[in-house]
Formats: sequence, structure tokens, C-alpha cells
Amino acid sequence: MKKMKILLPVMLFLVLISCKNNDFIIDSKPSGKDSIWHTFKIENEDIRVLEVNSKYFLSDDVILTKDQFNYLSYYNAEKKPKSLIMTDFAKLWPNGKIYYTINNNVSANLSANINSAINWLSTNTPLTFAVKSSSNSNFVKFNSSTGNNSLIGMTGGEQLINLTSDASVSTAIHEILHACGIHHEMGRNDRDNYVTINTSNIYSNKMHNFNKVGVLASVDVGIFDSRSIMMYPSKTSDASFAKNINQNIITANNSNIVISPNSYPTTTDLLGINMLYGNEKPYLDYTVTYNKIFEDGLSGSYENEVICTFTFYADKAKTIPYIKQYPVPVVIENYSEQIINRVPDIERTYKQSILIPAGQNSFSTYGKDYIDREWGDIYFLEKSGSRPIYPSTHYR
Ligand SMILES: [Zn+2]
Repeated sequence: MKKMKILLPVMLFLVLISCKNNDFIIDSKPSGKDSIWHTFKIENEDIRVLEVNSKYFLSDDVILTKDQFNYLSYYNAEKKPKSLIMTDFAKLWPNGKIYYTINNNVSANLSANINSAINWLSTNTPLTFAVKSSSNSNFVKFNSSTGNNSLIGMTGGEQLINLTSDASVSTAIHEILHACGIHHEMGRNDRDNYVTINTSNIYSNKMHNFNKVGVLASVDVGIFDSRSIMMYPSKTSDASFAKNINQNIITANNSNIVISPNSYPTTTDLLGINMLYGNEKPYLDYTVTYNKIFEDGLSGSYENEVICTFTFYADKAKTIPYIKQYPVPVVIENYSEQIINRVPDIERTYKQSILIPAGQNSFSTYGKDYIDREWGDIYFLEKSGSRPIYPSTHYR
């Protein structure tokens, strides 16, 4: 069977950004006689998970579902491609809409703080919130508890955000952002360039708070932000966390940098949230160039290298370059048409997730096409190309 196909590199970028902790957040203190430590080797980084009573703590305040835990196990054992694990690891809320309910054990005070957090995020981010109705099966339930913690991403069904009775608006925002799929800032891949984790001052059973969860993602958004609401503070007052609470648990490599989580999401936090949930609609232009790299004189078959250059614009007329300071995920639909004896035969399409790089509106991908010509048939490339699919950022 003779065929022509275009192979463009498939890039699956899944996105986890970073996350943080205020003093008051490092307090869920998972403990218990039945606790088990699991260590997974992912991208040469140790990811520690504490299992307590069938709950899986990726950090003190981030709980994994059994499925997510199993992904780590499977990745650890099988060396699955990173993109694959990320695809399913933390799911986004469709269209950035989060349905919620507030448990009746929540005090009026805490309820007011939760509502302030929701209002702030509704005003300043693409996220929207609505009180759950009976038809909403996936929702967050705010619950008054002895610790502050959340699952990571939308897990499906009811998922708790636990908050202590004195939890602040900041803490509520922090935990909501976990539920939106956002990780701790000090979990970024590049954090060692900016900070030093003072492991000698941290109890070993707290080291999972410094998991480099960035290895589960492809992108760190913006530069490392020591003021991120998802960053842990340099010191903690929690004596079960730091051996000496007067000494740092995290020290900035540059003494001019202050490690102090902001009470509200910073500009770089907002970039990250926008990257995950912004409803960006750039316009795509593309060019495809072919360079023959192989030809079989006998059959007439040949092989091209194919360079597809994508350029994005903010306007339909394609005059204003679309440039953001954060990577914008879009889904591209690639299509190709097979021509047999000059008669269009099959049009193939497939979807490809790509990122528009931060600070750029153009980039190229490389691939190959194969054109077979044998006696009696002529197969050649008639057209190929790509178009963006919207909503652009909700492909996970
Ligand atoms: Zn956290």
C-alpha cells in the first residue's frame, strides 16, 4: 500500500505551575502510626509522598488521588514519557469554571474569608465560581478542618478543600489554586538557581514539601517568584517542621531577594493562572517549507524535511503580533490530503497541543514527509497545514 504522510513532531505540553505556603499554611501535619513513605524517581528527582490512612500527601497541604499516586508509581516503574503522565496528572476545570459548596461546619468568619477569596479570584483571573447545583457532579466542598489542604487539579466528583477555622483569605486562595492544578513555587524545576533548601534545619518527615514537582510539568511560568502566594516562607513558626524555628528553612541565593509569600497572587502567579485558564484566541498563520533529503531514482519516491513555521496574531487581519509574557497553550489541528493519480483521496487530521513560547509569536516545528511514486500510481503532497482549535487553553 503506497501512502503519503506528514509527520510533524507531536508536542504534548502539560502544564503544572508552581505553588507556596505561608507560615499559617504549613500546618496540616499529616501523622499517624500507619504512615508510609514512598519515594519515586522522576527525571532524576526524588518525589516523596507520605501515605497516611490511604491518603497520599505530595506535601503537607497537597493530597493526591489514588489515581495520581498510581501514575507516579507507574512512571517510576515504567519510565513513561513525561507528556503522558502529565496529560492525566492534574486536570483543569473545564472553561475555568469551579462549582463549589460550603459545608455547614464552616463558621461565618471562615465562610466570609472563603467568599473573599472567591471574589478576588473571580475579579482578577479568568476563573469563575458558581454555587453547585444538583446537576454539577464535579465540585469543590469547602470544609472546616484541623489542617489546610487540597487535592491537586479537578479530581472529579466531590473534592474537599480543608481549611482551619482561622484560615485567612490568603490561605483560602492558596488552597483553591492547588485545586486548580497549581503547585508550590519552590517545586519548580529551576528553584535551585534561586534558593537553597536548608535541609539540615528541616525534619526529614517534612522534606516532601520540597518535592521538585516541576518534573511533572513541562513549563515553569515566568521567572522564579520569591513573593508568589504559592511560595513557602524562609522561616516557619512550626516547631514540628523546622528543627530551629529561628533559622531559615529556605534561603535566597541572592541576598537581595526576599522570600516572603504575598497575601494575594502576584503578577507571575496571575501569568500562570492565565496560562492554564486564560481564554486566549490568537490567530494563526503558518508556512510549510520542504527540502528534499532523499530520492529513490528507481521508484521515484522521495523524502522531504518539512519545516512548519507557526506565527500568531492578536487580530484577524494578522497585523498585530500576538506576544505574551507567558507560554500560551493552543491546540493545532494538522491536516494533510492524500492525492492518488491527482484525485483527492483521504484527508487526515490530528490534533497537536503546542505552546506559543513566552515573548515570541513565532516558532517552527520540524518533521518529514514521504512521497511514494511507483508504477501506475502517483502520490504527492497537494496541501497540508494547520489551524488552531479553540478554546485554546482548555485542552487537558
Ligand atoms: Zn500549598
